[in-house]
Amino acid sequence: MKQEHPAAVALFVMLFLGSPGAGSAGILPALAPQAGCLRSCQLLLAHDGHTKYSIVLPNSASPTEQFAVEELANYLRKLTGAVFPISPQRAETGKPCIYISSTEVPGLSEPLTGEAYAVVVDGEDVYLNGGRGRAVLYAVYDCLERLGLTWFAPDFDFYSGAAESIPNRPSLLLEVKESGPIVRRPRLDLRKLDVGEAISHTERNLRQLLAWMPKAGFNTLMVPMDYQGRGRAGWDKWREQLTPELQKRDLILEVGGHGYQNFLNARMEGGRLFKEHNEWFGQGADGLCNPAAGQVFCTSNEEAVRFVSNGVIEYLRARKEIQVFDFWPPDVGKWCECRRCLEQGSPAERHARLTNHLHSRMAAACPNVRLECLAYSETLNPPSTPLNPGILLDFCPINQNFEYAIFDERGANNREYAVTLAEWRRRFGGDIGIYTYYRKYAWKSLPVVIPGYIKRDLQWYLTKRVKAISIFAEPGDWFTFELHHYILGRLSWDPELDLDALLKKYCQIRFGAAAGVAWSILAVLEQEVPRFGSLPFTTQKTAEEIAKPYGKLADLERKLAEMTPRLQEPYRSHCNRLLLMCGYALRDLKIQESRAAGLSLQQIRALVLELSDFLNAHAQAGTFMVYFGLEEPRLFRKYGLAEESQLGGSRVLISFIPAHGYLSKEKVAELGRAALFEISIGRGRLWVCGLDLERSVEVDPAARRFALHLVRAAHRESIPGGSSHSESER
Ligand SMILES: [Zn+2]
Repeated sequence: MKQEHPAAVALFVMLFLGSPGAGSAGILPALAPQAGCLRSCQLLLAHDGHTKYSIVLPNSASPTEQFAVEELANYLRKLTGAVFPISPQRAETGKPCIYISSTEVPGLSEPLTGEAYAVVVDGEDVYLNGGRGRAVLYAVYDCLERLGLTWFAPDFDFYSGAAESIPNRPSLLLEVKESGPIVRRPRLDLRKLDVGEAISHTERNLRQLLAWMPKAGFNTLMVPMDYQGRGRAGWDKWREQLTPELQKRDLILEVGGHGYQNFLNARMEGGRLFKEHNEWFGQGADGLCNPAAGQVFCTSNEEAVRFVSNGVIEYLRARKEIQVFDFWPPDVGKWCECRRCLEQGSPAERHARLTNHLHSRMAAACPNVRLECLAYSETLNPPSTPLNPGILLDFCPINQNFEYAIFDERGANNREYAVTLAEWRRRFGGDIGIYTYYRKYAWKSLPVVIPGYIKRDLQWYLTKRVKAISIFAEPGDWFTFELHHYILGRLSWDPELDLDALLKKYCQIRFGAAAGVAWSILAVLEQEVPRFGSLPFTTQKTAEEIAKPYGKLADLERKLAEMTPRLQEPYRSHCNRLLLMCGYALRDLKIQESRAAGLSLQQIRALVLELSDFLNAHAQAGTFMVYFGLEEPRLFRKYGLAEESQLGGSRVLISFIPAHGYLSKEKVAELGRAALFEISIGRGRLWVCGLDLERSVEVDPAARRFALHLVRAAHRESIPGGSSHSESER
């Protein structure tokens, strides 16, 4: 999307008129060139849609360096309309060049290594160098940002081409304010985007995501091996198409997720393994081996451990593109209770022993793959078994209270995480990463927009010498968390980043004339939603307390709603999305206020249903992610309406039981008794309770339509059949 920035043009005209070469045909003026660029520099890269610059790339360039040059030339053409020719050496003496990966860069005292990159201006020439392929890409994108481009988001389809902002600048000025060569290094080694539960990912939007990653400073894509074993989302599904895209950009691929069960489970080999090697499978307190996917296998059984390790090594050898492999237990899994396992200690001890074992085997079998294990749930605490220092540890504060910073002990759970992380740091010499929840599935796309909070957290994490950071990256509600994704990339390079300046720029580019109101809305969302909204672990406030932020946000929403229709595109579309975010936050606050005021459950139920309709009506705007169209039961649970008894005689009509069992086992059975109709979704089950759907469809056309929609909704993509109802009750 082309946009004009009047301030920048004015600056250019002023400088241009002051130059002695102004107006002369042929040779274009270079403004204030200074050898070595000791003070700030201004170079005129193009004038009136023409350039005298060429891009120089050595013949020995790697594929990533070649790609970097294509990116540079393409974006320069989009900015200026000028064609910047590419050649292996300076074409003509006297004509300036942009050198990519030149072997000699003036002013650099030592060669660049790793991800370090440099932007150097020497006389009229520009040098863009990096310690490796993607570092050269970072240098190119840095230079383009200095020229006025911004990439706040991947080029997802819902943005209609307005994700990136490309001003129209036929005359293009490169201004470098820093004195001397600019050399930048990231503060965090691994900067990850996590495909997570992969609810809204497609091959197409994953390509768009990958293209954006180096622009925002990320370097690692995390993909589940097979999310929850459902066969719906996993690396093999995208491998062929995405591997070249990753390699072209020299990006890191991390594969895995919760996955012991991917290498040993009761369904393997048609159930033969479970029958013939029953002792490999984890036992319950009753001494019986449990075939459930959430059951951790018997990690004290040497044969089982060998079987799993062999499986991992075989998997990795067949997929050389994987650079980091997650070896995580099942999500909130149940650990084996056999005598030998119990003797080995807590799940954290057993996880460490098992990871060390696999790590030692991988050192010989696949030495280029980094192994990652997890500090999460049952394995949160550091074990007494020392973890091999070459292993990467991912620390997951899943129950973080966002009312307070991670290091603020007023936040329930936060203190435990802060103390535990410090303890890990004290005991473990290897690299620790933080698996952040700054975009959290449990928020259900509620606009918890907290850039300042993220900055404070990150600065504290750095005091613990953290080396990696990740965030869930779902295209479905990207706009709501757009700022989080963008600033996390930026902060992981520069934790001292001037957030106010960045937010100001963001609001101007995204919302145009509504930037001021948008700024105020973002401030209210940051200050009030985590304190008064329906976030897990946020304490319940009084109705009077909630009414205040509600009023503040409602006023701002009204202002924005008045301005939006008068705005031009793309500002109008961006403002409409911000209005949707306000609409959700206001409804959420109203429900919380009603709960605090003691309104009847029927009244609250009506508000939740209205919210559900609102979310469904705007499911495709890139703002809300509606979970397979089954958001309603989840919202009911979230707002405390899930219990049948609380609904005053009405019944739970539909329950979605997630495969990884956040519901207690006892409760599943209780719900199951009333289920009269069942649809499998992966290994989860959709139960219709209190209504005999199959009987009803014979007599009632409305029931027929309802059933049809329900089944279609459940089966709108190909999902392999899961376990049956009776199996779950074993
Ligand atoms: Zn065991």
